[in-house]
Amino acid sequence: MRIPALDLHAAVEEERRELDAAWNEVASHGTYILGDQVSRFEHEFATFCGTRDCIGVASGLDALRLLLQALDIGVEDEVIVPAYTAVATWMAVTAVGATPVGVDVEPTTFNVDPSLIEELVTERTKAIIAVHLFGRPSDIAAVQEVADRRDLLLIEDAAQAHGARVADRRVGSLARAAAFSFYPTKNLGALGDGGAITTDDLELAERVRMLRAYGWRTRSVSEIFGVNSRLDELQAAFLRTRLARLAMNNRRRRELADAYGELLAAAPGVELPPGGDSSLLPVWHLYPVRVDARDGLQVFLAERGIGSLVHYDPLPHLTPAYRRVGWADGAFPVAEMLARRELSLPFYPQLSLDAAREVAHSVLEWAAQTSR
Ligand SMILES: *Cc1c(COP(=O)(O)O)cnc(C)c1O
Repeated sequence: MRIPALDLHAAVEEERRELDAAWNEVASHGTYILGDQVSRFEHEFATFCGTRDCIGVASGLDALRLLLQALDIGVEDEVIVPAYTAVATWMAVTAVGATPVGVDVEPTTFNVDPSLIEELVTERTKAIIAVHLFGRPSDIAAVQEVADRRDLLLIEDAAQAHGARVADRRVGSLARAAAFSFYPTKNLGALGDGGAITTDDLELAERVRMLRAYGWRTRSVSEIFGVNSRLDELQAAFLRTRLARLAMNNRRRRELADAYGELLAAAPGVELPPGGDSSLLPVWHLYPVRVDARDGLQVFLAERGIGSLVHYDPLPHLTPAYRRVGWADGAFPVAEMLARRELSLPFYPQLSLDAAREVAHSVLEWAAQTSR
């Protein structure tokens, strides 16, 4: 059995009828930009997250970027971002002319270590972006405490955590505002690019709405400088059908994570991601294990027809772009150690339990061999 790391087509096949119907509805309606589908999706996603508003935009990067811009963050400002994240988190800060200031992460959750934030705060620090990496909510209460003490804005990067909860609140509603991505691989993914901002702050929402379309409140009247970053009507229609299945798909992800957790519990030298409980419910965007000799495991699995992925190596600060502005190895010891050891096993809602067993079996075989 060949087992890919990810299979986006499997999801499309499963939902083919609903997706076809969504496409047909948009095609016959005749509005292709900012019509009913976008406003309905915005309303439904805000309701899902438990926020007063949601604004659809063209990507997750744009969601972060427009949010920072709407909060007046720009040149001369610093924004604290986790060292372990997709490069988009850092680049959104760079894109508005501000400076990303990395902070190291916790060794088991991959999320920001709240105890390291305060020492990085300077006169220029305006905000902190907490990323809920791999579907696991950040320790938002602890980060909020630092933000309150130092008068900083707290923003969530929820691109990997649609539906995750802290107690009875969903991510997207835990801070001043949140950015989501609907890139096809995410827990809630479009069939193309897409993103959104959620917030309870209606004034902020209005600014983001203007920024996404040329600074217009009224068509053709640019009150401020904006860009073109709209969520497509067609993608919104697809997202509405997929939002209806998100809870089920997140449940399947949890079952798979539980299965991997049980099967691999005794694997020597294989460290597993921590689970959740009633106060913190992850949605398992990926299943990242930690091993020494990560590349060896990846090759071992590939030889058995099993795909796997590395997230993220290089880390944002060690990409050529950020090295060029002065970042270097050693800046974040924990994140850099994790980046050498992380491997994401095959993981998507349509992956069968049999396939997960086969993956686990191969990992156990490798672990037994290498621990001898
Ligand atoms: C995917 C992702 C983004 C960016 O989303 P795009 O839609 O690809 O621009 C931002 N942050 C994190 C943590 C992500 O995983």
